[in-house]
Amino acid sequence: YQSSPSAGRHFLQIPGPTNVPDRVLRAMDNPTMDHRGPDFGRFGGQLLEKVKQVFKTSGPVVIYPASGTGAWEAALVNTLSPGDRVLMCETGWFAHLWQEMAERLDLRPELLRTDWRRGADVPAIEAALRADRDHGIKAVCVVHNETSTGATSRIDEVRRAIDAAGHPALLLVDTISSLGSIDYRHDEWGVDVTIAGSQKGLMLPPGLSFNAVSAKALRAAETAKLTRSFWDWRPMIASNATGYFPYTPATNLLYGLDAALDMLAEEGLENVFARHDRFAEAARRAVRHWGGAGAGIEIQCDDPRHFSSVLTAVRLPEGHSANALRGIILEKFNMSLGNGLGRLNDRVFRIGHLGDFGPLSLVGALGGVEMGLAAAGIPHQAGGVQAAMAYLNGNA
Ligand code: PLP
Repeated sequence: YQSSPSAGRHFLQIPGPTNVPDRVLRAMDNPTMDHRGPDFGRFGGQLLEKVKQVFKTSGPVVIYPASGTGAWEAALVNTLSPGDRVLMCETGWFAHLWQEMAERLDLRPELLRTDWRRGADVPAIEAALRADRDHGIKAVCVVHNETSTGATSRIDEVRRAIDAAGHPALLLVDTISSLGSIDYRHDEWGVDVTIAGSQKGLMLPPGLSFNAVSAKALRAAETAKLTRSFWDWRPMIASNATGYFPYTPATNLLYGLDAALDMLAEEGLENVFARHDRFAEAARRAVRHWGGAGAGIEIQCDDPRHFSSVLTAVRLPEGHSANALRGIILEKFNMSLGNGLGRLNDRVFRIGHLGDFGPLSLVGALGGVEMGLAAAGIPHQAGGVQAAMAYLNGNA
């Protein structure tokens, strides 16, 4: 039997872009309006207020028609000057890409390395800041949820470490794969710039990205010397004050954002987080089961305090190809899984369990993986899906 690749709905189980709910699709399917007309001013003004809730901030949130990478750049060029030292935590591939960008922008990143199996090393951050007596480090940059490894850093602890060291560095946090899925508090945790993207927990297509900006970051923007034009917060915030944008906004994506924020608010952010935590635990139970009895399959994240609620990166035993497995699963079962990035290429595959995602999405995704493991001849203990279902049913 050869299943038709077009039968049934494609399972998009990469850790972003995620599945876009019909309600969001329908919202985007409205005529594009005059972005300088009165209707837009009303709509934009309400949306720019509404979006603050998901960041848990009362300050401005700048929205760019760009992917998350653009919002990374915006955070750096608005707050920093050429030659500035920035402390960056190399938690995985995305932290690495952000560091490369900092270098290209003429900043001087100082790297705190990890083995890519955990979140940011908080004691190392504190030690580096304490050692920096003349306060040459201008920013600490952390990826909240490292999408390449499935490890979530403790931003509350990073904040406490910066405070304990009595250091004035800005705190810049990438929440591209965590916002709207994992508990996050821009104001309470004293984050200066929160960077986010539309295509993951916000359940939108790719194309929007965000900077939530603290008062301290706004002050830094007044003296920062890196060249900026498109990314400059100042004309954005000035236009946003009346609900408009300084250039043509991605109007239909903004319609979608409005609907997605309503959906998150209706479910309740705390319920959304609990849903993600629950499915993540079920997914990990499946993976541990597959890897039991010496089969050697492992969860890439090694520290339970850093387990990610939005994705699980699964490490295959030496000698087995994660890319071949993904290829088989796509061909036979019509499901896309995330690939291993950078040094994890072919070593891991990633199961996204975020966004518009329910219990049967999880059971279906895990079922596809378990069948794929068998089809690819990868040693595993059968019954991982059963372990996940037992947990979801409360019988674990
Ligand atoms: N940071 C993280 C944590 C990500 O997961 C991604 C993309 O997956 C990026 C940055 C880059 O964002 P984009 O691909 O939207 O430019």
